[in-house]
Amino acid sequence: MLEHVDIKPHTTFGVGGMARYFVEVESSAELIEAINFAKKSDIRYVIIAGGSNLVFGDGLLDMLVIKMMSPKDIFNYIRLQDGNVVCDAGVTLMDFINWSIRYGLSGLEALSGIPGSVGGAIVGNAGAYGQNISGPLVEVEIFDGEDIRTLTKEECGFTYRDSIFKNKSWVVLSAKYSFTRDDPEVLKKKSKEIIETRNKKYTPGIKCPGSFFKNILIENIPEASLKHLPKDRDYFGKVVAGYLLEQVGAKGMKEGGVEIANFHGNLLMNTGEATFKDVITLAEKLKKLVLDKFGIQLEEEVRYIR
Ligand SMILES: Cc1cc2nc3c(=O)[nH]c(=O)nc-3n(C[C@H](O)[C@H](O)[C@H](O)COP(=O)(O)OP(=O)(O)OC[C@H]3O[C@@H](n4cnc5c(N)ncnc54)[C@H](O)[C@@H]3O)c2cc1C
Repeated sequence: MLEHVDIKPHTTFGVGGMARYFVEVESSAELIEAINFAKKSDIRYVIIAGGSNLVFGDGLLDMLVIKMMSPKDIFNYIRLQDGNVVCDAGVTLMDFINWSIRYGLSGLEALSGIPGSVGGAIVGNAGAYGQNISGPLVEVEIFDGEDIRTLTKEECGFTYRDSIFKNKSWVVLSAKYSFTRDDPEVLKKKSKEIIETRNKKYTPGIKCPGSFFKNILIENIPEASLKHLPKDRDYFGKVVAGYLLEQVGAKGMKEGGVEIANFHGNLLMNTGEATFKDVITLAEKLKKLVLDKFGIQLEEEVRYIR
């Protein structure tokens, strides 16, 4: 276990202060050991993996950050069980997708290019282009702080970019998937096209946490607000947050070291020295602008840890 570790390089946004304690774990057993240590020592702990959906606070973070490392030899972490596939949480999502494509298993190929781990994707019910990680998922194995147990998909409470795991201190250890069959070449082509499209939006190397705010489910938008939106704004049953942000002039806005892309209103980028304070100040400003103009309350897709 290390002390006073700069947390920035462990996130894709590169924002945050120093973790008082920091440890890297490579297996479920090591993860549980780290959690038991933190509990026994009465230290607050947080689990991270790819760090691609997080914004840490500035200054000293009085906690143990437990980082799940992604295994290099993924074949020991993905296995067949009763005709289904079980994958450990630490495996990089893209490694798992490539594995499934290779065996002609369809269900997650549209998530190609989403950074981070399988566990992180389950917590946030990551998705893109009409697929979500919860789609082919059957059950999830968790550590609830006391025991290892299995939750059915229904018990995981998956909704748009949300799951029960966002409000519990449970740890996702692995999950079981039931895929459908398809031609590996077809899946590979789709995956490649999606990655190419994504690389235009997220230039490789930019420091960002993906989309900052969630899109808004049309069913959650008040009738009065719908009147202000064009009819063709329906994207898989949602209104894209980027559209609302662009309407309030978000593109190109700056706050300290954070800047909004001039081609996408929902893409907050760290230009180098961004602080948590910069991020929060800009996020609150954007939420107010959208609320005032459309009567719609934006909700962060990223998770703040402070
Ligand atoms: C360029 C870019 C593009 C992106 N595009 C998309 C997109 O198209 N769709 C989308 O949905 N997301 C997208 N994201 C967001 C992000 O990649 C996903 O949310 C990803 O699934 C997070 O995984 P992670 O391993 O990085 O999780 P982290 O950021 O490390 O953690 C996220 C949350 O999950 C928790 N967590 C992580 N692992 C576990 C575990 N095993 N058990 C319990 N809790 C855990 C953490 O405590 C934290 O609360 C994008 C991000 C970037 C940087």
